[in-house]
Amino acid sequence: MKCDICGGTNTYIKNYKHEYTIKGRNIEFESERCFCIECNSIVYDQILDNIASEKAIDTYNKKYGICKEKIIELRNKYNLSLELFAKIIGCAKKTLISYEKGTSIPNDNYIIILNSLLSNPLLIIDLIESNKGQFTQKEYSKLQDKLIQNNNINQLFFDTDFEPTVYNGYTRLNKNKVLNMILFLADTTILKTKLLKEMFYSDFLYYKNTGASITGLEYAKITHGPVPDNFDEIISAYVEQGLIDYKIEYENDYENHKISSIDKFNKNIFLSDELKILEQVKKYFESFTSKQIAEFSHMEKAFTETEFSKKIEYDYAFYLSL
Ligand SMILES: [Zn+2]
Repeated sequence: MKCDICGGTNTYIKNYKHEYTIKGRNIEFESERCFCIECNSIVYDQILDNIASEKAIDTYNKKYGICKEKIIELRNKYNLSLELFAKIIGCAKKTLISYEKGTSIPNDNYIIILNSLLSNPLLIIDLIESNKGQFTQKEYSKLQDKLIQNNNINQLFFDTDFEPTVYNGYTRLNKNKVLNMILFLADTTILKTKLLKEMFYSDFLYYKNTGASITGLEYAKITHGPVPDNFDEIISAYVEQGLIDYKIEYENDYENHKISSIDKFNKNIFLSDELKILEQVKKYFESFTSKQIAEFSHMEKAFTETEFSKKIEYDYAFYLSL
């Protein structure tokens, strides 16, 4: 290689500290470059220059965007082809290839979409629904089979060791349904005690009709009635993700625990019979105060026959008073 500055032909290689500004953000990294022995300027070297530019992209993506390994891992977890995954996130196939190869920096929109999918894989269902027009009939039914129906995303991402029992209503936990059940019942704000009991009635009533629960949640008996087991974890997880809001307000020595919806309710993930149950439960308890619904639930066999802090068997659903 010849030096552009002095014309010298003797070169050496050394580690060089690069400082670049990409999209207005500073990045620093080290990689080997070729130098002129005479004047010490950088001399063009295809291989080393390519390595440096890939390193620049990689450094930026790790610091400000999303790194290629995560994109590949995400697509593999969904078990989707490049073509289908590109359509879902709304970019061209060759763009996605360049992201996965690390030869370009995803634009900010895609960084947001990809990071959202990483933190909440179930969001892909909304993306599929809102880009529905992009897919052929064949592609769309493929996506239905792979991701939308039968809780498949949960199988791909979350619990690998599901066991159908009388405590989960022989149903795999579906976090997307849990969230949307909360959003539907909260509409737009509800007291926590009332919400937890309406969730119990929804799942148990559906079980009474079909032998399966809606969400796959397990319920337990506490002083205030039947509630989803680990409800605090469930609620704080959705609060952390910014999908619901949880506030405690004080009113004449009383604490009001209020749950409000932030995310939009998505009815498409429910079967029509499940929606009917949700509507029925919400309507039935519409005028009930928290105290009234707690007292009402204390009459249920599911409550009276279960020991405190123990899980409730779904089979008590057959004795429900609604
Ligand atoms: Zn030179």
